Amino acid sequence: MSPISRVHAMGAAALCLLLGAVAIPAFARGDGRKATAAKSKSTAVAARLPRDDSRAEPPAAPDGLSVVPLAERGDTSTGASGRLRIHLLAAGSAPSGVYAIPNGVGGHPFAFIGVVPFAAKRGEFIDDYRMGFWPAEIHAVQSDAYENPAGFVEVTAENASTPVSDHFTLGDFVTHDGAPFPKYIVLREALLDKVELVLTDLEMHGVSTEHVRVLSGFRTPSYNFALGDASGRARESRHQYGDAVDMIIDSDGDGRMDDLNHDGRVDAGDVRVIEAAVDRVELAHPELAGGLGLYREMGPSGPFAHIDVRGTRARWGTADQHVYASGVSSYSASYGRRETSASRSHCQAEGASAVLCQGFRHTR
Ligand SMILES: [Zn+2]
Repeated sequence: MSPISRVHAMGAAALCLLLGAVAIPAFARGDGRKATAAKSKSTAVAARLPRDDSRAEPPAAPDGLSVVPLAERGDTSTGASGRLRIHLLAAGSAPSGVYAIPNGVGGHPFAFIGVVPFAAKRGEFIDDYRMGFWPAEIHAVQSDAYENPAGFVEVTAENASTPVSDHFTLGDFVTHDGAPFPKYIVLREALLDKVELVLTDLEMHGVSTEHVRVLSGFRTPSYNFALGDASGRARESRHQYGDAVDMIIDSDGDGRMDDLNHDGRVDAGDVRVIEAAVDRVELAHPELAGGLGLYREMGPSGPFAHIDVRGTRARWGTADQHVYASGVSSYSASYGRRETSASRSHCQAEGASAVLCQGFRHTR
């Protein structure tokens, strides 16, 4: 059984609702941050539907489902990268679930995802899953980038293998908090699109990207805060907004970052190959601007890259920050090592870079 065939099946009522949802302009591409009109109605419908109780094949969708919404999206259905395999429906506009297009798009699997609106959160929880509180739930925030996310994608044991882009599945982005399914994540298509563009760029520069591993995708505020950054930096992590991914390229499958620059070692030089690709992609796609953090080895997976789409350019651990080569060799409380006093004092000495240095504790 292919991964996409194991999606959340939907009943006739849900299908009608979905068709209604995709036929309206609110279906336009984006995270649906402002889409709240359909919330109460669809939440009520969703409550009447059996949730996640069937492994049946998705029903064959009428032509309207596979043609109308994709026509509206034009050639952007698979993103600038051409490698997106999902589109998130406006939060609350359709019942939670993964709705596969029967024959995919352009020979690739493709699915729509019904998103649980943020308003469904009760205290720290969605259903029985602990999320914690986002900064905007606690205090006023400085910019739109820190407003509460529009909603959540429900990830179940059944839908976790759904491809969200050529290199990634839904399950790649869940918080590693040990909680059972169902779990809930914030996911942004822009992040997937950017990372796929970076991978395409790397391929054009001779780097094999056959296997890319997500070390950390979405992190709940609760989990992120538990990483233990006393500075409060964790509260602002882009990981809790579905913006960010920490990843390695591991095409040889040994569990470690590959020797991307073919110099016989796995070290800082390899993440700098990724840095160059991110810089090129941001130049070509300024709408995908964001953060790039390079981290030295602090676990068996070796050095890794943090990439995000926060909307403004940010860099830490990169060449232009002059901090990477300064002996910051163990900057992760979250990965079980203590930040060295040497690295901390160096960060303090870096002036404007000092804030970024706190990212070395891997809370960005
Ligand atoms: Zn990160």
